[in-house]
Amino acid sequence: MVLKTGKEYIESLRKRRLVVYLLGEKVENPVDHPIIRPSINSLSATYDVANDPRYRDLATATSHITGERINRFTHIHQSTDDLVKKVKLLRLLGGKTGTCFQRCVGMDALNTLSIVTFEMDQKLGTDYYQRFLEYLKYVQGNDLVCCGAMTDPKGDRSLRPSQQEDPDLYLRIVERREDGIVVRGAKMHQTGAVNSHEVIVMPTRTMREDDKDYAVSFAIPSDTQGLIYIYGRQSCDTRKLEDVEFDTGNIRYGGQEAMIIFDDVFVPWERVFMCGEYQFAWPLVDNFSAYHRQSYGGCKSGVGDVLIGAAATIAEYNGVADSSSIRDKIVEMNHLNETIYSCGIACSSEGTKTPSGTYLVNVLLANICKHNVTRFPYEIVRLAEDIAGGILVTAPSERDFKNPEIGKYVEKYLKGVSKVPTEYRLRILRLIENISMGLGSVGYRTESMHGAGSPQSQRIMIERGVDMEHKKKLAKIIAGIEKEELAEIKK
Ligand code: SF4
Ligand code: FE
Repeated sequence: MVLKTGKEYIESLRKRRLVVYLLGEKVENPVDHPIIRPSINSLSATYDVANDPRYRDLATATSHITGERINRFTHIHQSTDDLVKKVKLLRLLGGKTGTCFQRCVGMDALNTLSIVTFEMDQKLGTDYYQRFLEYLKYVQGNDLVCCGAMTDPKGDRSLRPSQQEDPDLYLRIVERREDGIVVRGAKMHQTGAVNSHEVIVMPTRTMREDDKDYAVSFAIPSDTQGLIYIYGRQSCDTRKLEDVEFDTGNIRYGGQEAMIIFDDVFVPWERVFMCGEYQFAWPLVDNFSAYHRQSYGGCKSGVGDVLIGAAATIAEYNGVADSSSIRDKIVEMNHLNETIYSCGIACSSEGTKTPSGTYLVNVLLANICKHNVTRFPYEIVRLAEDIAGGILVTAPSERDFKNPEIGKYVEKYLKGVSKVPTEYRLRILRLIENISMGLGSVGYRTESMHGAGSPQSQRIMIERGVDMEHKKKLAKIIAGIEKEELAEIKK
């Protein structure tokens, strides 16, 4: 049995020697830092569910390489059932944490590499797949968190990696040695980077021959020499430094994004999964994007559950829960949220087996899923804000509420229905604020827009993925332009 508990995971983080900067200062102990810790708590939930008998089937799986019971976040999908369970697990965790729990990017990277290294070996005679399997055994056997590092800084977006004035704006190989490679560059917006044991690097776009030094994929321990983490700011993050309990909205959990600098980092050959095979950069990005667009069908609907629950609760606290207009808004929120989830389930059920044996989601439906995510959470937030009222952004602070002089006024005048304490009302308002526009909005709003690719990238994939000739044929048959018996109709 290789399942770590949440507590063991947190202890394992202490053994690393990371170089982390936050708010302009070096952080000696990231594990206990008040701004970082809530994000570690979210990740530890991915361990706790795997040890909870109620969620065993969803949160664990049987390793296809060792036969051991492992955490699903390190599993390679062996069926469409695995793909469906992934989405259900992510929804469960989104609901438990109300935020991003950061472990899916690594899972998506592992599954992507299992497909692409196999294909590379088939076509090029390389031995990347075997290397990958050895690495996978290590990750599964130690129940590790992998940070999936894809997005480069990109510099001038109109130029290819090799055309940039500063050649480091896409991560690249700067030296090939007998024992490995040396890489330089940076990866942006890295979810859970500071909370990871391993960093899996992947290219971020299509590459041509000139870009081959940028076509690189590898995995290294997160405390490898030369790695520097610069922690991303979130809205209201310094509230976590105040001596308050509920003003942050989510009293226990948080998300995390950081920038990772690769300052001439050495990678041994056994950890290299792509090195110059530029033709495979796109397939890698394509598969990874599909998996991560599927992921959002789970996690975003889980966080949506929390926000919808908060909106319904504040309506009760305000005494308007029975109003037909409020009930209708809640119905609309649920409709949007379940649509996101439905797409996550659909692209999973329609998944197919790749030559490696790994199951991949239906790419078109995964893109539809993520495209809905670039819109629906915004509408759900709008409705939550509508239901909550202006007090969402004007309520006094927790410190005012607890102030011996004026607390009584806050208590008295912010009361809703008489049987509910004012404090509860403030707590729920802060939670709505957190997800809609505060600390948690990184995961529920802007990440919904840009995470796993911004909306236009899904529209490109939708245009590529739909069979327009088929649709035109259907129309022409019905209009009597083509004869049905002569046309090949898809089932
Ligand atoms: Fe997982 Fe969602 Fe966070 Fe991505 S945004 S890592 S899918 S919880
Ligand atoms: Fe993401």
